[in-house]
Order: sequence, then C-alpha cells, then structure tokens
Amino acid sequence: MQPDKTPILVTGGAGYIGSHTCKHLATKGFTPVAFDNLSYGHKHAVKWGPLEVGDLNDKARLLEVINSHRPAAIIHFAAYSLVGESVTNPGKYYANNVGGTLNLLEAMRETGIDKIVFSSTCATYGIPEHLPIRETTPQNPINPYGKSKLMMEHMLADFDTAHGIRSVALRYFNACGADQDGEIGEEHEPETHLIPNILKSLTGDVPKLTVFGTDYDTPDGTCIRDYIHVEDLAHGHMLALQHLFDGKPSDRYNLGTGEGFSVKQIIEAVERVTGQIVPLEYGPRRPGDPPILTSDVTKARTRLKFETSASDVDTVVASAWNFHKIQAGR
Ligand code: UDP
Repeated sequence: MQPDKTPILVTGGAGYIGSHTCKHLATKGFTPVAFDNLSYGHKHAVKWGPLEVGDLNDKARLLEVINSHRPAAIIHFAAYSLVGESVTNPGKYYANNVGGTLNLLEAMRETGIDKIVFSSTCATYGIPEHLPIRETTPQNPINPYGKSKLMMEHMLADFDTAHGIRSVALRYFNACGADQDGEIGEEHEPETHLIPNILKSLTGDVPKLTVFGTDYDTPDGTCIRDYIHVEDLAHGHMLALQHLFDGKPSDRYNLGTGEGFSVKQIIEAVERVTGQIVPLEYGPRRPGDPPILTSDVTKARTRLKFETSASDVDTVVASAWNFHKIQAGR
C-alpha cells in the first residue's frame, strides 16, 4: 500500500468514530474525505481532510463526490444509531441505514471502487446464548437498529459475490473515550451513553446520573459491557483497510477488549480519575439492554494483529473527562 495522501472516502466522517478514524488515517499518510449530512455530525470535527456535505440517499451527490476525489477505498460509518428511536421509528432506520448503504454500494459498483470497511456492531448479536461473543455466534438482533446493521452486512456479502466488492465488517462493542490530544470527542445530541452521561452529572449539565437497573444477574447487579477506546477502534479500521489493500478476502471481526466492566465499576473509575463523587439515582432497567456483552477478539488479534493501547478504563475516562472539560469551557 502506498498512502502518499491516497484519498479514502469516510461516510459519517464528521461523527464520533468517523472523525477519530479520519485523524488516524491522516497520521498514516492518507487523505480522509469526510462525506456527512451533518444531521448528527459536527463540521468542527472535520480537520484532517475535506468535508463533502451530502446525504447517502442522494446518489447523484455521492457519485459527484466519488468522481471528484476518486477514493481508493471507502470506510462507511454514516448511519443512525439510537436503539430506542429505531424501535419507535423503524422506517427512519431502514431508509437511511439500509437504503443509504444500497446507494453507496451501487455507486461503488458504477465507479469501480471495490474495497469497503464497514462499521457494524455487537447489536447484530442480540442477546447471545454464550459469552464471550465470537464472530460465529448467531446474529439475532433484537431491535431495528441492530437488524438494519445485519442487513447491511448481508448486502456487503452479496455485492462481493456478484460484483467483487470486498469488505471488512467490524462489529464493535462499546466505543468510548476521546482523542488524547483533546481535539475531538464524543458529542452526541441527545446523549444516551454511560460515560458522557456520568461526566455531565459531574459538571451539572444533568442533575444526576440514572443507573438503569440494579437487579441483573451480574456480580453487582448492574449491566456489564466491553468498553473500547475510540482511538483503538480507529486503529482497527486502519488494519481492516490494510487487509483489503493486501488483496485479502472479505471478512468480519469483533473489536473489543474481551474484558467486561459493570456500570458501577465505570462509576468507580470516574470517581477515581476525577476525584469527584458522582451524583446518582437507581432507576429501572432500560428496555432492550442485555445483561452482559463481552467480546472474544482472538480473530482480530491473530489475523489483523489488532491490539488495544488506550482501552484501560482509567485512560478511557481520563481522555473523555479531558474533552468534556474542554467542551464545557468553550
Ligand atoms: N447506562 C446507565 N445510565 C445511562 C446510560 C447508560 O445506567 O445514563 C447503562 C446502560 O443501561 C448499559 C450501559 O450503561 O447497561 C452502557 O450503556 P450505553 O448506552 O453507554 O451503551 P450500550 O451498551 O447501550 O451500547
């Protein structure tokens, strides 16, 4: 592979994981071209290459951007990802996530681009019967968000068979943390994720954190998740891209740490790192939350040579807290 400013189209490049991946691509010598409709992404998060504002459902715009930049590959993040909203408004998810991906794949076929790294999710597994989750664990998503991502994985496989478009689907566990230089971070609106919500309770943006459920069948009664630093995820995308540039076949990988932390353990980590007490209340379970989700990352470790370097919980929390304070001071 010869980076030499090679353009890579990053759909959703103004979003949380997309923007961190753009930064990582730039440090490796590529030119990340962010394609984003800015519905959830932020213009200020696009700093390492051009921003092309556009929507995946506008195929003419997509073709225009592809033809003007001629990317060597595509990394596809652009998707809606609010689980609760996907239950109440499934059409929004199928139209944007599935319909948008179909446009993207058709545009790739028409322009001869044959490599794509896809942002999939552990939500495609639903509630697994066995832990930790392997890539061979049956995929039975329990909400339209997870179902839309699984459909996208199926589409990728079919476009490889029919048109030779090779893909790597990365099924991430819980993305968290922020750029350790403090340039970008997690800025969801509305914010539903645990760590930013804990930090908001410390700075008074919300009165207190609500812990969703304390009666799960786990050691402390709260849900257990596998938290992976967004910089490690960005690195995983780079390795997946390399896999495709090396001419290897389509594949799918879990990206996580293989370690689980409960909600209470994450709260303790925040208290340890910030030196503050988290104001909290205990609430009922959030519908659709599986008790435990942890990954088996053996496949990514052995075949992609994937290793995490920033995902220990204290580093995750320190980077998120650093970005949160920078944001609060803006
Ligand atoms: N959680 C919580 N309070 C919050 C947000 C999340 O107790 O304000 C819990 C949630 O129920 C889950 C864990 O924290 O058990 C991680 O949730 P998050 O939304 O960050 O990620 P998910 O696992 O849903 O992708």
